[in-house]
Amino acid sequence: MAPSSLRPLPQIVVLGTGGTIAGTATGDPSLPGYTAGVLGVEDLLKEVPTLGSLAQIQTEQVANVDSKDMTFAVWTRLAGRVMHWLAQPSIQACVITHGTDTLEETAYFLSLVLPLDKPVVLTAAMRPATALNADGPQNLLDAVRVATHPEARGIGVVCVLHGVVHAARDVAKINTHAVEAFSSGERGPLGEIEGEHLRLWRRTPPESGAPFALPAAEAWPRVELLSNVAGTDGAVVRCLVESPCLHPRLRGLVVAGTGGGTVSRELEAALEAAAAQGVSVKVASRVGPLRGGDDDGLSAVKLRVRLLLELAAIGTPLRP
Ligand code: ASP
Repeated sequence: MAPSSLRPLPQIVVLGTGGTIAGTATGDPSLPGYTAGVLGVEDLLKEVPTLGSLAQIQTEQVANVDSKDMTFAVWTRLAGRVMHWLAQPSIQACVITHGTDTLEETAYFLSLVLPLDKPVVLTAAMRPATALNADGPQNLLDAVRVATHPEARGIGVVCVLHGVVHAARDVAKINTHAVEAFSSGERGPLGEIEGEHLRLWRRTPPESGAPFALPAAEAWPRVELLSNVAGTDGAVVRCLVESPCLHPRLRGLVVAGTGGGTVSRELEAALEAAAAQGVSVKVASRVGPLRGGDDDGLSAVKLRVRLLLELAAIGTPLRP
């Protein structure tokens, strides 16, 4: 094998979608106020000059949004562009810069529509690019390290934040302000990056049913997410099912249930009536992963992502 100094650098693509990592201060950069999704992905790369010694990097700006405003149209475009790049034999991996708010949803969505062979690494930041102690540049460097690492082949879609590699299925944002804002819960992360080294402890098995077909931007069904809380009755469910205003009509409901996935008696009755009318109903837990069951302990937000893709694959049946 040629010495590493003579080997051509791996080729990757960094796709920008916005987020705090691309955010700029609205005033004094030492204070919290900022606007997410301002800088372009090229600007983010300029802050990390050492990237040039790790990979040959092309960039594409897919969107520039605060990820709280993530839409199905952006998801469709993003997945389509990742598929386009990864289909090229010369491209080894994609890195995606994203906001932290819906990072886990985008990552899980991508993990369900993309094949596992080439790494897709999402990264983000809790502090804007103009902050005195910005965390974005290090996270971007770590993400590129993982994307180009020989051991990462076949790893699928992962999130790299604060030196930790998380599986798309397990990762969740658990803190509103600290840079250690993400956790993989009971399953734990896949690995860590220390300096130049990547340590992978485990891999995620492929999900049953994946990869799902990528829905066209206008073909996403409506699946709403509710919570069982003190005082919840069935009224909201009945309104959602019967509402003539909803476009598209409701196809699925996910409930973040109490404890082991329980719901109030009134909500249960309303959900049963909804199911009898053809609405797909799934229940997760507000507390954490549910043990057993078909849904692999998915959080409510991820269960919704999976149901969206399952229903999109079925198409839109007529409801009575
Ligand atoms: N609201 C921002 C976003 O998700 C938060 C962040 O990126 O940390 O785009």
